[in-house]
Amino acid sequence: MDFSLTKQQEMLVREMAHFCKKELSTEYVLWMDENVDFVPDELWKKFADLGLFNGGIPEQYGGDGLLMVDLMLGFEQICKASLSVANAVGATIGFGTRFIAELGSEAQKAELLPRLGQGELKMCMALTEPAGGTDILGSISTTAEEKGGSWVINGQKIFITGAHVADYMIAIAKTDPDQKPSRSLSIFLVPGKAKGIRIGRVPKISFHHCDSVEVFFDNVEIPKENLLGTRSNGWYEMLAVLNPERIGVAMMGVGIIAACYEYAFRYAQERHAFGGPISRFQILQKYLADMFINLENARNITYKAAWLHDTGRPYHVEATMAKLVAAEGALHAAVHGAEIMGGYGICKEFPMQMYLRDAFQIQFSPISNEMSRNMLMQFQGLPKSWA
Ligand SMILES: Cc1cc2nc3c(=O)[nH]c(=O)nc-3n(C[C@H](O)[C@H](O)[C@H](O)COP(=O)(O)OP(=O)(O)OC[C@H]3O[C@@H](n4cnc5c(N)ncnc54)[C@H](O)[C@@H]3O)c2cc1C
Repeated sequence: MDFSLTKQQEMLVREMAHFCKKELSTEYVLWMDENVDFVPDELWKKFADLGLFNGGIPEQYGGDGLLMVDLMLGFEQICKASLSVANAVGATIGFGTRFIAELGSEAQKAELLPRLGQGELKMCMALTEPAGGTDILGSISTTAEEKGGSWVINGQKIFITGAHVADYMIAIAKTDPDQKPSRSLSIFLVPGKAKGIRIGRVPKISFHHCDSVEVFFDNVEIPKENLLGTRSNGWYEMLAVLNPERIGVAMMGVGIIAACYEYAFRYAQERHAFGGPISRFQILQKYLADMFINLENARNITYKAAWLHDTGRPYHVEATMAKLVAAEGALHAAVHGAEIMGGYGICKEFPMQMYLRDAFQIQFSPISNEMSRNMLMQFQGLPKSWA
């Protein structure tokens, strides 16, 4: 068993850490959190110049064809600096690029992948509907009807990350309502500014510089060839594309734990009470020690899941565990980090309040901790409790 990084991987981490230190300073991230609803274009461009969007693009379309472990090594640094930024770039890479690369026609791949790699396009995925995200198969009522040479989409989506700035949406809709739910869905590539699309804001406490919004489809007409993959096989195709998403979200948890631990560790040594630094109090050391352990555990299982993915082994159990361990570790780290900072933990001048708000979002998205536990036991052979 070899946990060491190659020279190339070490360089990738160094380069991304350097970039994040320079471009995602705590001051700038806190400014974005108060002032913008998505990553500013100039920052997006800097990521593009760095080659971030090219990483996961297959080599035949001009990309670097990086494996998941390598992608995660870079992503970890972004997650530590800002979960909003990580989510914003992650939506285009994880939803846009992956859906096109896996399901796009040759023409769609040839047209869109090089542009995605250059950072020219922003994308999102419109799956969740107001009726519920966990029971997604039972909740989708958005329809796509074939009319002449077009598809006409009607319905409503909610919590769609980056839809307000997206050039394209990957939208999941019912095309075959007479079939059983898992055979009723298809996937579409919808231009973000297509006629009939309306966006509604959803104010929330977390991920402030990466809005997730409502999307209303009112007779949105798209060309027939914008069907991605196979009609009525959308459920299975979507699951296959989305499976690695849990590894990325686990890395978000790792990023938060690392950020909270480092900030609180330093703060505890600088803040004094009763004649010395508060870091000498055993109870605060316990908080820090638990964060430190959670960080190691969450990071190890996340990279293990990525490695299993890259080596073609089953990785679903580890990816699900990683998401759970990292999400719960993130919430623990943010709560205890804030406690270590006393009143300053909730002040907007400091990042801990942002970590605390952001940590909450990954408890239930993209999969809730409750459902993750259900699935872990289903994988172990216990009866399915939810269907
Ligand atoms: C900020 C944000 C960004 C998002 N981004 C996107 C995006 O880009 N694209 C997209 O399509 N979706 C997105 N989502 C949707 C996200 O995936 C859903 O919020 C998530 O799946 C949970 O669905 P829900 O919020 O409807 O909760 P519900 O499904 O209503 O769940 C409510 C509660 O019931 C519990 N529950 C449900 N079923 C069971 C069960 N069988 N056993 C035990 N407990 C159960 C859940 O664990 C949870 O505690 C986003 C959500 C948020 C909040």
